[in-house]
Amino acid sequence: MPRRATKRGEERTALSGTYDVVVCGASFAGLAVARQLAGSGARVLVVDRYEIGERQTSACGIPTEWLRVMGLMDSARQEFGELVVHTPHGTSRYELPWTFSTFDYPQLCRLLWAQADAEFETAKVNGRTGETVHTDRGDVSAPLIVDALGWRRILASDGGYQPPDAPLSRGLEVHPGGSSDDLEIWIDRRYVPAGYGWNFPAKSEQRIGVGSFDPRFHVKDTTVLLAEDLEQDAVRYQGNWIPHKLRDGTEDPIFFVGDSAGQCLPLTAEGIRTAFYFGIKLGDELRAVIEGRQDRDAALRTYSDFVDEHEWQFRWMLRAQRLVPRLPARVQRAVIWACGRKRFVDWAFGHYLRIAPPEFAGPPPEKTAEEEPVPAAA
Ligand SMILES: Cc1cc2nc3c(=O)[nH]c(=O)nc-3n(C[C@H](O)[C@H](O)[C@H](O)COP(=O)(O)OP(=O)(O)OC[C@H]3O[C@@H](n4cnc5c(N)ncnc54)[C@H](O)[C@@H]3O)c2cc1C
Repeated sequence: MPRRATKRGEERTALSGTYDVVVCGASFAGLAVARQLAGSGARVLVVDRYEIGERQTSACGIPTEWLRVMGLMDSARQEFGELVVHTPHGTSRYELPWTFSTFDYPQLCRLLWAQADAEFETAKVNGRTGETVHTDRGDVSAPLIVDALGWRRILASDGGYQPPDAPLSRGLEVHPGGSSDDLEIWIDRRYVPAGYGWNFPAKSEQRIGVGSFDPRFHVKDTTVLLAEDLEQDAVRYQGNWIPHKLRDGTEDPIFFVGDSAGQCLPLTAEGIRTAFYFGIKLGDELRAVIEGRQDRDAALRTYSDFVDEHEWQFRWMLRAQRLVPRLPARVQRAVIWACGRKRFVDWAFGHYLRIAPPEFAGPPPEKTAEEEPVPAAA
């Protein structure tokens, strides 16, 4: 049984108070926002139902350069220069123009948290009224509230998203021990009619899973099947819904980031670097409010516009997501083979990386503010 780190019983004292910023959700998106506020002098509260890094939310694969620029390389576990794609008609190896790495989730979260200077509390967020967030430990308020709670979009006024009718994919993986050299994906209807299977090794652990773009397709049996085919035990399950459509970045007065804003890339279900990317932008906008360089309305507008500027990229990836499964298997195989030419791979993966490029992230902000903190202007 995994040890439960979250506070229970008497340790769960009542929570209350007014902060400059309340960040709901302490995974990739929420921690990236908190990191950008370090040294701003703002009183920032981060809440999550689990302790930081306690509950892994993904296979934890990311372009290596993102780990480097964020100062998170100590969490890296394995680096890959090639992607291996299996179809029923054969296997292709793509040499990537940049490398991809798997990392350790608890360690990455701890490293990110060390770059922030916020307060943290474990509490389940139930909803909000205006500028007050309701948790199972009490209410907290702030003029600046961030929903980084994942796909549910809990702080939205319409009550958030519900599967299976919402634009969501679903993913499930198992984490057997052991090692493997290759980053592999399977485009094979035996595992999923629309989607793909994967094995992301992380040194002493493998992350074997299946993602379906159709939320009605249950991925448990075929995740077990893929693990069996790889002669691995189907143990330590981890799964979730994955948004595959970009949503509005704001709803006055709330800022949404990461999966709550649908910022996971539709065709690949890659949502970590985009959570960092949009989280950094949002953190910088909130910092400008804290430092008196803009008001909240301006931050809402600027961040919302920034999210909207990416809408066409997400739309095109969603189109491709819908088209690929409809192609006959032999055409799929021919396309995959043709796409394997080095020049095409360099071009396609170069464009893909630029949707959320690592250069966007600077080094961690200084933790000590040089100036007197300016109260948040709402
Ligand atoms: C099986 C699977 C494998 C994946 N593999 C990859 C991958 O290898 N690479 C990649 O880039 N993307 C991957 N993704 C997608 C990626 O996991 C998400 O896009 C990413 O986690 C989004 O980050 P986030 O911070 O927005 O949300 P999350 O990581 O989902 O974090 C949400 C946080 O909010 C907390 N929370 C939720 N509800 C409440 C509540 N009511 N009260 C308090 N706290 C709450 C959660 O505990 C969590 O800490 C995968 C997804 C799945 C399902």
